[in-house]
Amino acid sequence: MMNTTNQPIPDIPLTAHHIRFTVRAETPIAFHGFKGSALRGAFAGTLRRAFCPEAQRQPVDPLHKAICPACQLLDAEQASRQYGDIRRPYAIRPPLDGKQNYLPGELLHFDVVLFGDKLTYFPYLIMTVQRMGAEAGVGRRDQSGQRGRFSIQRVEAINPLTGELQSLLEAGDSMVRLPALPITHAQVLTAAGRLLTALEQQNKCLTVHCRTPMRLMSGGQKVETAEFFPLAKQAVLRVLDLSAQHAGARPDIRLKEDIYPFADRVMLVKDETHWWDLKGYSGRLERRQVLGGLMGRAVYRTEEWQPLLPWLMWGQIVQVGKNIVKGCGIYQLEAGAAITNPTNDSGT
Ligand SMILES: [Zn+2]
Repeated sequence: MMNTTNQPIPDIPLTAHHIRFTVRAETPIAFHGFKGSALRGAFAGTLRRAFCPEAQRQPVDPLHKAICPACQLLDAEQASRQYGDIRRPYAIRPPLDGKQNYLPGELLHFDVVLFGDKLTYFPYLIMTVQRMGAEAGVGRRDQSGQRGRFSIQRVEAINPLTGELQSLLEAGDSMVRLPALPITHAQVLTAAGRLLTALEQQNKCLTVHCRTPMRLMSGGQKVETAEFFPLAKQAVLRVLDLSAQHAGARPDIRLKEDIYPFADRVMLVKDETHWWDLKGYSGRLERRQVLGGLMGRAVYRTEEWQPLLPWLMWGQIVQVGKNIVKGCGIYQLEAGAAITNPTNDSGT
C-alpha cells in the first residue's frame, strides 16, 4: 500500500492473528489479582504437559526444542536473537470486564495473539485452551483443591483495525477453521491515517488508555510516570524485534533520526495514571514476580504525530512493556483529551 503521509514509514513485515476464545464457566471461576497472570500460568502449564514430553527434563535437548511447539511458543531461544530483547511469538489479553468471579453458566472471553506467520501453532492453541478448561482449570483452587473449569463456546479470529470477524469454531463443531484475518502493516497505516485526521480536529491531543499494567523500563529503571518517550521508544523496539524474530526481517529505520526527535517533542498535558502494583507467581521460575505498571490514562500533544502514529498503532496490537505474555501492556488510543470511558476492546 502507498504511504500517503509525508514522513517515510518503512515497510513492516509483521503480521498478527488475534484469536478470541469465548468460554462458559462450568464450575465457579475465582481469579485473584491479575487475571492475565492466572491465564498464562494455566496456558503454559497445560501446553507443556500436553505436548512436551521433555517438560521434566533439564536441560532440554536442542533437537527437541527445534521441533516442539510447546518449547517454541514458551521458551524463545536466546541463541536465535540477533538484536534486541527476546520477544515471544504470542501475547495474552485477559478479560477486561473488571470481574474476578464467574458463576457456572457465565461467559467470559480472553484473546491470544500470535505474531508473524505462526499459524502452525494454532491447532495447539485450540487443544491447549480446551484442556485448560476441562482438566487443569483456571483461577484459585476451591476447598477441594480444584480450579474453575470452563468449556469453549466459540473461537473467532478478529481484526480490531478492520472490524472483521471470522468464526473458527462453535461449540459442538468437529471442524476448526484456520484464522484468515491477519492484521497487516497496510491496515495499521490506514488506521494511523484515520487517527491523524481525527487528531487534527481535536487540537492534536491524543489520549492513551492503559487497560492492563504498562511496565516500561528506561535505563534499567521502571518508569513510574506517564512520560511519552519510553512508551514510543519501547513500542518501536518491540515492533522491530518482533519483525526480526518472527517475521523474517527487521525494518530499516534510524531511531535517532526517524523516531526519537519526534517522541522528544511530545508533551504530557494531562496525567490520570496511577501505579498498580500486583503480584503474580511464576511456576516455572518458582518465584514471585512483580507485575505492576501504569494504569489509567494520559493525554499527550505534539505538532507532529504523523511519524509516531504507525508505531503507537502497532503497539496497540502487540502490547508494550514487560510481562506481555501475562496480559500486561494493553492500551488504547483515542483522539482528543478523553473524558469518556474507554470502549471495552474485549467487548464485555
Ligand atoms: Zn518441548
